[in-house]
Amino acid sequence: MFDTLKKLVDADSISGYEENIQEALKKELKKHVDEVKLDRVGNVIARKGKGSPVVMFAAHMDEIGLIVKYIDKEGFIFFDKIGGWDERILPTRKVVIHGSKGSVFGVIGSKPAHLLEKEEQKKPAKLKEMFIDIGASSEGGVKKAGISIGDYITNFGSVEKLLGSKVTGHGFDNRLGCLTIIEAAKGLKRFKGTAYFVGTVKEEIGLIGVRGSAFSVNPDVLLAVDTGMAGDVPGISKAEVSIKLSEGPALDIKDAMSVVHPKVKKWVKETASRNKIKLQFDVMSGGATDASIAPTIREGIPSGAITVPARYIHTPVEVADMKVVESAVKLCVKLAESAHKYF
Ligand SMILES: [Zn+2]
Repeated sequence: MFDTLKKLVDADSISGYEENIQEALKKELKKHVDEVKLDRVGNVIARKGKGSPVVMFAAHMDEIGLIVKYIDKEGFIFFDKIGGWDERILPTRKVVIHGSKGSVFGVIGSKPAHLLEKEEQKKPAKLKEMFIDIGASSEGGVKKAGISIGDYITNFGSVEKLLGSKVTGHGFDNRLGCLTIIEAAKGLKRFKGTAYFVGTVKEEIGLIGVRGSAFSVNPDVLLAVDTGMAGDVPGISKAEVSIKLSEGPALDIKDAMSVVHPKVKKWVKETASRNKIKLQFDVMSGGATDASIAPTIREGIPSGAITVPARYIHTPVEVADMKVVESAVKLCVKLAESAHKYF
């Protein structure tokens, strides 16, 4: 599983620039399903089985990133954000710019500490003042490297193993979900009905891909398979986030936009307990998943979200526990197997 996760993370992709992850996901899913297709906006739609009930697992493929906004005369590249970044963590990041001549390595520059006034040290840098240095000495040099306004910028780096079954890397939100649906498609053998494993586009910038894909699949139930927030680190209280990194996948009970459908809640809770899968329950004050808007698609699709908790989400050093991914896979398989009893 680690190697597949690495392949998915290494497929540089952010919202709007998703061809690499589409290809990687399609290739992996193809081995385990009856049919895979790409729709017009880039959602990867894989089908296994036929007839009712129809269950759709939706894992968004995109990751937050940056985009080239302006190139100055000295060859420094200014940028804008794509998705929900904490701007404070941007300076000194290593990045890759995807231009017309291939990928170009760069760093987000910052003023050395020696030069900062006392007041400046207390304040985080502003996005509009940040720039990328690719080693060019003029605007012409940047253009010669094939970079122009509107080019996508992705995180640099791969996946690394930490102690035990823990791993770290960027884009775990939501390569963990993509990995889970691949492994669930592989593990699902005997079941009634149809299971769709869908990689959705542009979730991070407005839950976009799920709208068309759920409309065309028209499932009886939709489960988003996403990445959640683990709160068991210094600085986050249990009352704020009670979800732990290694205590199993979580069922989102509530997020900023929606609440879980009662039938979905019953199905997930009972299936987890029947199969002795540790399950956590997440009541979130913020955030949303592809499941949040499913009730507004067609005549309304019952939905819920299963998440793999990760620490430091939306940073390039997200941390996850591969053992929990294994549990999430088992849960998805058991849910697909038991869906006919509920829907
Ligand atoms: Zn996500």
